[in-house]
Amino acid sequence: MGSAAAMHLAANSDHVAVLGPTEAMAITDGAVPKSSHHDAGRNAHSLDEDPVWSELGATSVARYRDIEKASGIGFFDEIGYTRIHHDEAVVERSANHALLFSGKRPEVMSGDEANKRFPFFHFEPGETIGYQPLDAGRINPRGYVDAMSTVACSNGAQIIDDHAVEMIVRDDNVQVHTAGGQTLSSERVIVATGAYSTFDNLLPILLPLHVRGRTIVMVPVGDATLSDLNGMPSVGCHPGNGRVRTYWHPPVTYPDGQKYLKIGGGPEGPQRIANLNELNEWLRSDGDPEIADAYRAELHRMMPGLDLSDSITAACVTSETHSLRPYSEAICDGRVVVLTGGNGHGAKAADALGEIGASLMLQQAWPGQTTQSQFALPDAAR
Ligand SMILES: Cc1cc2nc3c(=O)[nH]c(=O)nc-3n(C[C@H](O)[C@H](O)[C@H](O)COP(=O)(O)OP(=O)(O)OC[C@H]3O[C@@H](n4cnc5c(N)ncnc54)[C@H](O)[C@@H]3O)c2cc1C
Repeated sequence: MGSAAAMHLAANSDHVAVLGPTEAMAITDGAVPKSSHHDAGRNAHSLDEDPVWSELGATSVARYRDIEKASGIGFFDEIGYTRIHHDEAVVERSANHALLFSGKRPEVMSGDEANKRFPFFHFEPGETIGYQPLDAGRINPRGYVDAMSTVACSNGAQIIDDHAVEMIVRDDNVQVHTAGGQTLSSERVIVATGAYSTFDNLLPILLPLHVRGRTIVMVPVGDATLSDLNGMPSVGCHPGNGRVRTYWHPPVTYPDGQKYLKIGGGPEGPQRIANLNELNEWLRSDGDPEIADAYRAELHRMMPGLDLSDSITAACVTSETHSLRPYSEAICDGRVVVLTGGNGHGAKAADALGEIGASLMLQQAWPGQTTQSQFALPDAAR
């Protein structure tokens, strides 16, 4: 969200700086804040039950190709997205939202029909499947951040590889002190520090985020299996009947050169992270083994032929808001804009969210059809 906001700010104003640690810094130094999960895949679509998330997704997806072109960095695989739900009405509503915001209605089919269409999956007959073949699929979040940062820099933004340890809001400016000993003085600041924003005491308010420790399972996939999975879309699965919720995407190459199919999910899981130490500790762990087993069982149920024996696990975090929609609000007489609360959906929609944050900071009209009140902090936080 921070890189996206910088891209929109730099297009509309001068003297924009993005302060944030690179992934390399976060890995080598345990005290440096990390992202929700430095990763190679995030699902992207507008097939969402909530019209706000559907619009944010559609708006952002529609601009991916332009950002790829402007930056020279590819990050979008338009492989399509399937949404599986035990309640047909939810899929129908989601498909209507996708039609409204992307202009094309995803197909809606039964489990039986979907089994013929997607031979690598096993759906239950009673499930309903929404399939968005275009304007949907998977992004590489590292590439997306790099691409938006590149566009921001080409419009004059400066990137500072460091992190904030203190923010002082004055009548005429905001001072930010960094871990590297710099003092930055700015007219206004957007705080988009993800899960850290509720724990790091940068903001003069207590941000009510439910930071949840999540687990993922990564399954290494060899060439023989890869050809069987040809045409596999990204997946979001809410099967009901006591089964865990999951999301997954087809194999993609990770920095170690291996292709992995990734599955994660939630919000099930015991972890509510309570402070900064717990957050850093969780992100250094391998996640929750019980939840990982539940994801493996789900994967086995839907893709019985997949060899899970060499699968590995990792930890990540999501930041939930009271409304399950992001927070974007100007505080401190407009000197500070809060932009956070991805609720597990924020990666694909970063561009639209960055645009909202930038518009608030520049006091421009609210973009799109969403409204400011949909992104408001709860009264108790102000
Ligand atoms: C495993 C997993 C899978 C997910 N899958 C999907 C998906 O398929 N599709 C989807 O749309 N979303 C998905 N999400 C959610 C998505 O990744 C988040 O909603 C999104 O990353 C939130 O963006 P953000 O910018 O708020 O926070 P982050 O991406 O966490 O970025 C916050 C940044 O702030 C920096 N920072 C922190 N503290 C400071 C500081 N003091 N000073 C400077 N910088 C600081 C961090 O280093 C980091 O770079 C997933 C999340 C997880 C964990």
